[in-house]
Amino acid sequence: MLQADPIVHDYRDAKFPDRYRGVPYISGAECSHNCVLCADICPAGAVTKKPFSIDIGKCVFCGLCAQVCPENKITFTGNYHLASDKKENLIINEEAKSVNMQMASEKIRKYFGKSLKLRQVSAGGCNGCELELNALNNVNFDMGRFGVEFTASPRHADGIVITGPVTKNMAEPLEICYEALPHPKIVILCGSCAISGGIFQGSPEINRGFLEKNKIDLYIPGCPPHPLTFINGILRYIGR
Ligand code: SF4
Ligand code: SF4
Repeated sequence: MLQADPIVHDYRDAKFPDRYRGVPYISGAECSHNCVLCADICPAGAVTKKPFSIDIGKCVFCGLCAQVCPENKITFTGNYHLASDKKENLIINEEAKSVNMQMASEKIRKYFGKSLKLRQVSAGGCNGCELELNALNNVNFDMGRFGVEFTASPRHADGIVITGPVTKNMAEPLEICYEALPHPKIVILCGSCAISGGIFQGSPEINRGFLEKNKIDLYIPGCPPHPLTFINGILRYIGR
């Protein structure tokens, strides 16, 4: 009997194409004297020179820093396990070569470990993140197989997934949506725009007050994050 290969990817250990850029690797190579090429070319202000680090909460994974570096100090690995429960874990340097993450509290795991319904709010992004979130429902990624699904109404949701830098126009709708969720609820930031403002950092058209006053439970970096980065992050967080 003919049997096709499985279509659905393994969310724990998938092999990505070489062109994919995951967790950056920062070698111990010495920088040329006073070289700031990588920091200067970064469109997201993600590179810090002293001590050397890349903030993957800001990074848009364009690869320019690696291209301009004459010392090959920066390379991008195929490691798509980018998510973390803490923003400070998103700083990658010579010592921190992967992203640490702790599981949710016992209470959250008890409530949402087997079934997690999410309401997505597009708060002024480019639709790149939304396209990848849509892909979570297709036959390639099929996030529903884990009991994690998007809902149409915040009243039916356990958590909110925010994409985009939160524009002024979306600040109030975001608050209203969040208030409509029953307790307990979790907040997930998806993409560099949501985590840091991304390439819109410092724009007078954004209002990130909501993110400053509410607890953020999970950060999922990328521009946009790969669907498997999202699935992997969520499942690790809820202890699966
Ligand atoms: S890959 Fe990230 S750190 Fe490097 S230049 Fe692009 S945005 Fe900046
Ligand atoms: S993180 Fe990147 S893909 Fe997502 S909304 Fe922002 S610019 Fe678009």
